[in-house]
Amino acid sequence: MKLAGKIAIVTGAGRGIGRGVALALAAEGASVVVNYSRSAEAAEAVVNQITNMGGTAFAVQGDVASADDMNALAKITLEKYGKIDILVNNAGITRDKLMLRMTEEDWDAVLDTNLKGTFLAVKAVCPFLLKQRSGVIVNVGSVIGKVGGAGQVNYAASKSGLVGLTKSLAKELGGRNIRVNAVAPGFIESDMTDGLKEEHKEAILKQIPLGRLGVVEDVANVVVFLCSDAAAYIQGEVISIDGGLFM
Ligand code: NAP
Repeated sequence: MKLAGKIAIVTGAGRGIGRGVALALAAEGASVVVNYSRSAEAAEAVVNQITNMGGTAFAVQGDVASADDMNALAKITLEKYGKIDILVNNAGITRDKLMLRMTEEDWDAVLDTNLKGTFLAVKAVCPFLLKQRSGVIVNVGSVIGKVGGAGQVNYAASKSGLVGLTKSLAKELGGRNIRVNAVAPGFIESDMTDGLKEEHKEAILKQIPLGRLGVVEDVANVVVFLCSDAAAYIQGEVISIDGGLFM
């Protein structure tokens, strides 16, 4: 097992990619703190699934956009496990609208969750990683942060922001043996992409060289790799997982 004895926090881990990441980290031996915001039942189901496969996990409610909640998440993790090795900043939302229709509230909601949420989670965990002189942070960005998306100025800005945050943190924390990287998924089957119109999905599929949408395991496997010692010399990278859509 690549992550035996490691303690991992995954934000937004009750559903979708976060759930897949939590299960994959647990399958490699990590104890997982399953953060959720609203999906309490789903988060408990993830905990049960991990426990049933012989792993250790517990669920913690918390809004990533709240500094108090993220500080509490770090505190509870330390009380329970005594250390934090891995933070996966996965929680994210979309509020897609064309610019003229996008409200300030749409902008704030997406930036608060996707970008500020990552800042707050890192800020809460950082003092302990620095003290330990070890740790891994993986941020879940998006290919949209690299190439933009019509109707997604808020989402694209948040995910581009994550690239800058990732690279800056990688420079700041690398000297203390803390690795910081990001993944940039393309179109992955989840609740987030379920809402896409069929014709939109067909059009996207035609542009993907590997000829399929991604599944959560495609992302989870790369996150596990980045969290493991196999990625010991990877720092400040943003790895696309998009079937070749945006090369
Ligand atoms: P999803 O199925 O809609 O799940 C979103 C997750 O984020 C849920 O677990 C949700 O938890 C959590 N979340 C939302 N707001 C939160 C908050 N304020 N505090 C804590 N958790 C919060 O989406 P997904 O596809 O799994 O997306 C996961 C990440 O991958 C996001 O960052 C997304 O931008 C990124 N991504 C997805 C795709 C894709 O094609 N699916 C592509 C590129 C990047 P609750 O249900 O508890 O609120």
